[in-house]
Amino acid sequence: MNDPFRLDGKVALITGGARGIGLAIAQRFAGAGARLVLTARSLSPEAEAALAQTGAEWDFVPGDARDAQTPDRVVAFAAQRFGGLDILVNNAGVASHGDTPEFDDERLELILSTNVAQVFRFCRAAVPHMRERGESAILNIGSVSGFIANIPQNQTAYNASKAAVHMMTKSLASEFAAEGIRVNAVAPGYIDTDMTRGGFENPDWDPVWRRMTPMGRYGQPDEVATAVQFLCSPAAAYITGAVLPIDGGYLTR
Ligand code: NDP
Repeated sequence: MNDPFRLDGKVALITGGARGIGLAIAQRFAGAGARLVLTARSLSPEAEAALAQTGAEWDFVPGDARDAQTPDRVVAFAAQRFGGLDILVNNAGVASHGDTPEFDDERLELILSTNVAQVFRFCRAAVPHMRERGESAILNIGSVSGFIANIPQNQTAYNASKAAVHMMTKSLASEFAAEGIRVNAVAPGYIDTDMTRGGFENPDWDPVWRRMTPMGRYGQPDEVATAVQFLCSPAAAYITGAVLPIDGGYLTR
């Protein structure tokens, strides 16, 4: 009997796939048999070595996702490189906190262009290629912040951007279900990456963040990656429009 969690031969594009959660997803997908195209502004030698170690076929396309031309260019490269596109993981994102009265336009624009507009553009660019495949999957990285207002830090723009990702996920799922394109999201709690390390080291934030997390610990990138693999695999064939929390119970409080 076939293992429905495997991704053998699938072509997967992962944005922000060069570190943090995106790199963990790339490593999981590689282990499941996928061929990968990763994109970000930079790829470290450490990440390159980790990817080489998987033995999978992969390629990297440098690009700033905030540039409106990048999604079309990267998706076209991915589809051409491996002859099609089966999976898109919209993982690239940025966080920025601050009290709203002092949160300037530059930071607002950074959050909305990176976390919302580029996700829309990558999906828009991917759909025509996915239509040709019959069965395909888009997976967006949302956040618990799309459901609740984090404390003690204020981060209204980020929270709103992730709520937009969740709604985009449901809307796209509805729009493309009949064409075999499943669209889901995950909503991680606090995961140990470059994005959150400053908060873990902040004596005012760390105890609050832990107290708000029933499991009492932060998550690891691979704990997100395994769920992403599931949602992008044939094992999730009847799941679309879902937003799955991966948060140590954070949303129970
Ligand atoms: P990291 O900061 O570790 O990685 C972010 C990735 O996104 C990097 O690969 C980065 O590459 C890429 N990226 C950021 N901006 C751009 C850009 N303009 N163009 C292209 N690539 C870009 O973050 P995480 O791994 O923690 O986060 C991944 C996703 O998970 C994000 O969407 C984040 O919002 C979400 N998330 C994270 C949580 C956490 O606790 N860590 C919790 C909930 C959600 P480069 O800088 O080289 O371009």
